[in-house]
Amino acid sequence: MRAVRSKNTSPEVLVRKALHRRGLRFRLHRKDLPCTPDITLPRLKLVIFVHGCFWHQHLGCKRATVPVTNREFWQKKFRSNLARDEVARNTLEANGWHVATVWECETKSIEKIDRALDQILMKLKSSDAL
Ligand SMILES: [Zn+2]
Repeated sequence: MRAVRSKNTSPEVLVRKALHRRGLRFRLHRKDLPCTPDITLPRLKLVIFVHGCFWHQHLGCKRATVPVTNREFWQKKFRSNLARDEVARNTLEANGWHVATVWECETKSIEKIDRALDQILMKLKSSDAL
């Protein structure tokens, strides 16, 4: 049962649509990879996580607030989320994957998503050129 965190959150669907428009082929929620990345682009050896700014505490983002009540609980919760993110990134990178994150706040318009994807793909190109 997953009541709270639905797999098909709308930011993720928007990113998928944007990839689709670019003709990029991807797979979803691959269970054979560490932490079941949201989106995997096998040809580019790229995984994309679509992260909620609140749950993953997007640095410098206004959505990344810590609730005033139960502060300690939330801080602990966020710390464990971030630790898990880092393990996922390290494990995937150790297996030869590029790891990128699209933040929820970057999915508020098609233009923003495209900008985020442009950045990811540009970075990918420059790292492959090394
Ligand atoms: Zn954000």
